Amino acid sequence: MNIKDGYPRIGVHYKKMLAHRVAYMDFIGAIPDRAEIDHLCFNKSCVNPQHLEAVSKSENLRRAGAVGLMHCRTRGNGVVAAAVHPD
Ligand SMILES: [Zn+2]
Repeated sequence: MNIKDGYPRIGVHYKKMLAHRVAYMDFIGAIPDRAEIDHLCFNKSCVNPQHLEAVSKSENLRRAGAVGLMHCRTRGNGVVAAAVHPD
C-alpha cells in the first residue's frame, strides 16, 4: 500500500510479459542483462523451464535454423501455468 496524498494506492497495472521469460525467472532465476531466452526444443509456445536457456542475442541467432536440441512433448500445454506478475 502506497499512500502519498491520503489516497491509498494498490498496484493495479500488470506488465505483460512473455510466458517463457516468466517461467525462466520463476524456475531458473533472473535473466541476465541483454540475454534472450532460447527454446532448446524450438517450440515457441513451450514454457517448460528445462527447455529454456538464457543466451546472448548472437547465440540465439546462431542457433536459429539449427535442429532443435531437445524434443518437446509439451506442445501447446506446457507444464507451467504462466502467471502474470505484478511489477
Ligand atoms: Zn519444450
